[in-house]
Amino acid sequence: MEVAPGLYQLKVPMPGPLEYVLAYLFPCDGGYTLVDPGWPSDEAFAALGAQLQEIGAALTDIRRLVITHVHHDHYGLAARVKEASGAEVLLHERDWEAVQPYVDDPDGAVRQMQRFLAMHGVPRDEIEAVPVPAQILRDVIMRALPDRTLRGGEVIEGEGFRWEVIWTPGHSAGHVCLYERDRQLLLSGDHVLPVITPHLSFVGRPGSDPLGDFLRSLEALKPLAVRTVYPAHEFAFDNLRERIEQIELHHLARMREMLDALASGPLTAYDVAHHVTWVTGDFRDFDFAMQGAAVRETLAHLEHGVVTGHIACGLEEGLYRYRLAQGAAGQIT
Ligand SMILES: [Zn+2]
Ligand SMILES: [Zn+2]
Repeated sequence: MEVAPGLYQLKVPMPGPLEYVLAYLFPCDGGYTLVDPGWPSDEAFAALGAQLQEIGAALTDIRRLVITHVHHDHYGLAARVKEASGAEVLLHERDWEAVQPYVDDPDGAVRQMQRFLAMHGVPRDEIEAVPVPAQILRDVIMRALPDRTLRGGEVIEGEGFRWEVIWTPGHSAGHVCLYERDRQLLLSGDHVLPVITPHLSFVGRPGSDPLGDFLRSLEALKPLAVRTVYPAHEFAFDNLRERIEQIELHHLARMREMLDALASGPLTAYDVAHHVTWVTGDFRDFDFAMQGAAVRETLAHLEHGVVTGHIACGLEEGLYRYRLAQGAAGQIT
């Protein structure tokens, strides 16, 4: 579907409640640039091919793949599209760094994640019950290695477009948005979505603060003149500033819940996650994989609290426990 002159939105199916990834296509260099090819499945690959055909394009016309971030639903299909077209793959260097352990030693990377979750209170039997498709991830990555890594600030030229790459870390360390200044269009990836808030995940990288990064990345978009936002899920919207403010309030409320939980004494991230109001339901009803994601999201908030001085963290008997920092109870800005 042509959503703006020369800009096509393609619905690439994926499993789960989101149902599809919205990929974007625009003409360039006698072919096309495709942003976020989608989820790696036969169904997704066929749907992509069929929608290209509808607009008079073919897979072999794709010259360039821009990946907003390295999550499976955006990057997963890059391997097959690259093999079919020879397109170059562009990915931010921070996301490339984040997936490299899965290339070098996938089983070791999985074991490290399991140890990390155990130290944050997730019961061992739960952790081991989650199948991690480390080899599948490795296979997807190895077949679509980035030809160029991005840092933010580059310009991706198309016919009638001049997309500025804006580095927006938070949802992933190397997430990027594409901004067309003259036409006031923003391809927002998963950074800003109209209804849901993107998952934030602390995975133990020392000194990292995904929630702080995310809030700063949101702030950086506020001054931009944007007529329409084209996200990678849900639907296009035009109230960017208002939506950013809603998302900021959401994280503030979530932070307050966690501080309230800690008022009763030190807790692990796993314990704190039980006290959070999750939009998808009660933590106790989540399957183990979802509990792991909820614990990592809880950690993104707790660690941000540590950075801002509201929360302290200590390691006792192999478990990380968080508590309110002295004099910080109830205060949050
Ligand atoms: Zn994502
Ligand atoms: Zn996504």
